[in-house]
Amino acid sequence: MGTALSSSAGLVPILFSLVGLLLALRYLKDQADFSKGITAVFYGFLCVLAAKVFIWLIPVFEEGAYYFVTLFLRLLSAVCFITGALCIKGVKKINNLLLIAAAVLAGVWSWYVVIIMRDGGMLNVSLAVSTLGYGALAASLWNKKSLRNSLGFVITGWLLIFIALFNLLDLVAWGRNLISPLFEAFLYVGIMCGLILVSNNLLAHRFDDLVQEAEESKERLRLMIQKSPFPIIISRLKDDQLMLINDKAGSLFGLDVKHPGNFKTVDYLADPSSRRELLARLEKKPVVDDFEILVKPRKGEPFWLLLSARVIDFEYEIALYMAFQDITGRKKKEMKLFDQATRDPLTNCYNRRQFEELATKEVQRSRRYNHPFCLFMIDADHFKNVNDTHGHAVGDLVLQALANCCRMTLRESDIVARFGGEEFVILLPEISLENAHKVAERLRIKISKIVVKNEQNEDVRFTVSIGLVSSTVTDNIEEMLKMADEALYVAKENGRNRVIIRNENGADKDTVPPSDDEILKTQEEPLYYFTPTSAAVAAPPLREGAGVPALENGTDAQEYLDDDAPLDDDEEELPERGGAAPHGVSLDDLYDDDGEEAPRMKEEPPLEEDEPPLDDEIMPSGGGNIFSENFEADEDIETLSPEPPPPVEEDVSALPPEEDFPLPSPPSIPSVEDEAETAPSASSAPLPVRPMMKKIKVPAGAIKVKVPKMPGVVRVKIPKMPHAGTPVPPKPPK
Ligand code: GH3
Ligand code: MG
Ligand code: MG
Repeated sequence: MGTALSSSAGLVPILFSLVGLLLALRYLKDQADFSKGITAVFYGFLCVLAAKVFIWLIPVFEEGAYYFVTLFLRLLSAVCFITGALCIKGVKKINNLLLIAAAVLAGVWSWYVVIIMRDGGMLNVSLAVSTLGYGALAASLWNKKSLRNSLGFVITGWLLIFIALFNLLDLVAWGRNLISPLFEAFLYVGIMCGLILVSNNLLAHRFDDLVQEAEESKERLRLMIQKSPFPIIISRLKDDQLMLINDKAGSLFGLDVKHPGNFKTVDYLADPSSRRELLARLEKKPVVDDFEILVKPRKGEPFWLLLSARVIDFEYEIALYMAFQDITGRKKKEMKLFDQATRDPLTNCYNRRQFEELATKEVQRSRRYNHPFCLFMIDADHFKNVNDTHGHAVGDLVLQALANCCRMTLRESDIVARFGGEEFVILLPEISLENAHKVAERLRIKISKIVVKNEQNEDVRFTVSIGLVSSTVTDNIEEMLKMADEALYVAKENGRNRVIIRNENGADKDTVPPSDDEILKTQEEPLYYFTPTSAAVAAPPLREGAGVPALENGTDAQEYLDDDAPLDDDEEELPERGGAAPHGVSLDDLYDDDGEEAPRMKEEPPLEEDEPPLDDEIMPSGGGNIFSENFEADEDIETLSPEPPPPVEEDVSALPPEEDFPLPSPPSIPSVEDEAETAPSASSAPLPVRPMMKKIKVPAGAIKVKVPKMPGVVRVKIPKMPHAGTPVPPKPPK
């Protein structure tokens, strides 16, 4: 028997190193996808360990039994190593029967060689054969060296060859002088380290695979969104920069889908504050499905969309996922319904119910800011006579002209309502009694200059009486209406065509009318010839021959956005009263001597407010900007001369004869049909959208919008970072 027995003392480091190696294999088993192979290798080294432990039992067993067990364990380990090598190489199916047969064969062969033959040479040869297992294992590990991270495989492979050589040297007499148990232990420790390196390599591979998988799924997600039938945009939450624009959204908004980073959400929002509003809602709930926004494409007119938004984790960023649905048609219907519910069809003024709603809000606002407001009660004088003399149709025209004149003379924020018959009520927010009196006088004079033509083309003129009350007397709307009515009654009593103020002590019959440059200028203005056609510059009439444009037409969305701009808290008196009348042009501009159409006046700048509007607050509008083409713009009342000009006794009868006024030739007004022809398509058509339309409840059964749901919705604290282009106004002290 040539095999040298290691000394018992030298065995300790070997056993320890083998235990370490086995632990390393255990650890590696969880990392590798060839865990079966590692298990087989584990059992192989377990056999080696068992063979080493068996050396201690020599005194117990006779020599034959010792060599039998040693050879059997060595051969068994070789079977395990070869099985492991095959698994690592990639062989999936290892026949268990074959393994058992090999194990049995190893046992029989060991028995035969050691017990039956008792041949030391054959034992040495058999032990030498068992080293083939290491070789096979080394080969399978080297096979992995083509991988990117393969150092562990190569080192372990080489160390296995060394251990095979070590075992071979142990079999020959001269070799035993070269080896030592410590060196063997060192080799096992080396293999253990190699195996740890292998598991590291495998982890790196796993990471690479995951990264690739993530990239692929990212691409798949991108592609899905890109090809979605819905317009979808994804923007980074922190800086609002777009991360993805799908094809549909690109064509809808006119954005370059290839370079989303060049755009921000606010670039396509007509009202940038809507982003803030959306973020505020998302902060409460990370899913918003019913957000209506007015979108401003790069080309074409703004249009309404329904937005569904989610805060998601997109490409390692917190992002805003937005899917859109065109609701232009629905919005138009809603606005039509709203108009029908809130306006008088003849004059297009607010109806009484809507007036009360708007007035209530105005009272709240007035109380909050401690700014006074005023109320006019206007009644056409001897209107019955107009009807009796010229007929009801002309009476209707007179009412329209009167309403038109009110809207043109007053601010957009003034609430003009028809209370029935020939009676109108106007609420003027944020105005002192003194200024309201001037406005009332100017309005009265302007109305007295209106000329309506009857069927015989004769002039029909009329006047109004006005009762005026300020919120400084009482800010109870019912009370104010009553007081204004009393003042109106006194105005009628006193001879009509006049303004009477109702103060704390009752109607003041003796108030001297304000008389200054501005009112003188108004008196000198030419007559205004009201015709239904001229009123319909902006839009077709609501009802046949009524001469009042339907509200849903003709006003572009920007106008409404401007309306929406809340009032500036600090404004003492609104400067645009009677100033550059919103969207208005002067008569002289419109009806110039050449009879050519004059250029439009520039748009009124939006008002500002430091604090967001009250809950449900609706910026009232006289609803008058649609007629603005025809009336002269007034100047700022605050700029009126402080010197008292000579008192003016205004009387229609005292007006110069008609011939004194240059009769203007009508402007070239595009017909309604012409407008319709040139109107843009539904999706790009300008939408007349008023701020109050935001509050409309969609009727039951209205369009339910389905938008693609986005997985991975995340709840995050929305950064309260105002966009550079949309400064957030500071909150006023409560
Ligand atoms: P006063 O100066 O005292 O106000 O006299 P008035 O004739 O204006 O007042 P009165 O109340 O006697 O007459 C109002 C008339 O207005 C009676 C009614 O036929 C008419 N009227 C009410 N609504 C409409 C309408 O929508 N169209 C027309 N054409 N006339 C209307
Ligand atoms: Mg009347
Ligand atoms: Mg009346």
